[in-house]
Amino acid sequence: MTDVLERLSRADPWYYTPERVKEIEPLLEKVRRLKREKRAVLLAHNYQRAEIFEVADETGDSLGLAMKAADVKDAEVIVFCGVHFMAETAKIVNPSKMVLLPDPSAGCSLADSATAPDVQERIEELRKTEPDLAVVTYVNTTAEVKALSDVCCTSGNAVSVVRSLPNKTILFIPDRNLARHVANNVPDKNIIAWDGSCYVHEQITPEAVQQMREGIPGLKVLAHPECRDDVLALADAIVSTSGMIDYARRSDAQEFLAVTECGLSDLLSIEVPDKQFYRVCKICPYMKTITLENVIESLEKLQFEITVPEEIAHRADRALRRMFEVTGRDTTPLPPNVPNE
Ligand code: SF4
Repeated sequence: MTDVLERLSRADPWYYTPERVKEIEPLLEKVRRLKREKRAVLLAHNYQRAEIFEVADETGDSLGLAMKAADVKDAEVIVFCGVHFMAETAKIVNPSKMVLLPDPSAGCSLADSATAPDVQERIEELRKTEPDLAVVTYVNTTAEVKALSDVCCTSGNAVSVVRSLPNKTILFIPDRNLARHVANNVPDKNIIAWDGSCYVHEQITPEAVQQMREGIPGLKVLAHPECRDDVLALADAIVSTSGMIDYARRSDAQEFLAVTECGLSDLLSIEVPDKQFYRVCKICPYMKTITLENVIESLEKLQFEITVPEEIAHRADRALRRMFEVTGRDTTPLPPNVPNE
């Protein structure tokens, strides 16, 4: 068995058969060659297909990848294997690099739920009665919405970002589930939630989680804060995707349920091979638009380049830098909502 087959079959033995991996291996080699030729680095979000992890220079969550993108120095091209807002963030924090998104249709339902004109209107309306208002924007938004914000946050640092602000009233955009989680953890603030959600996480039900819990004694449930609150109530820890990987590595437990998009369960099975990961996950079709084939085409043709107008980029960058300042580049997982043991 080759190393690639061994790793990929841990993620999904039914899909990554010896025959399939034999087809994949030349594509992996081609991506590696093109990366060298084009002086490119490949950043991959934790929800990508398992074969993309094989050629990624870095994998991570939104915060981790934003920081990696900012740190890219030697390469000329960043190929972003994720969705559009993530590639935009990479361009904003490292404007001198060419940033490519292999499939321009890789969007995000959550980012789409908050358009810049609607956000602008809501901010103006609230400022009439709430002069103390601060606008905190989850990174799952367009550059235009980030540009309207005081500070950005990720699922991994939303609580500490909100806690750090002197303002009492916070407009939290766009995820209502993450907003509720922040409100529970920072009760002295008045959190006004935008009514958006990720349709992938919304599909995961408490019944499915409970059924797993009852069937597997000792199972640790790790839930992403974009999940519904009745799902979060069943979690041992509420953590970002990278927080789930850290948690599983450090925990004495052997069996876990990662309640988020399915790519993370694939990655956990590859990265933490001595532990067992069960699934109630759902697939994000936007994340899965990225394939080895379109990564190759992207590198060959240097397509599809992400650009952000300078004025928008400048203001969005300020909101992102404030997040980096507040968290000190701290990626500590969110506190658990119930004791771990
Ligand atoms: S999982 Fe949800 S929030 Fe993440 S990219 Fe897909 S639709 Fe957007």
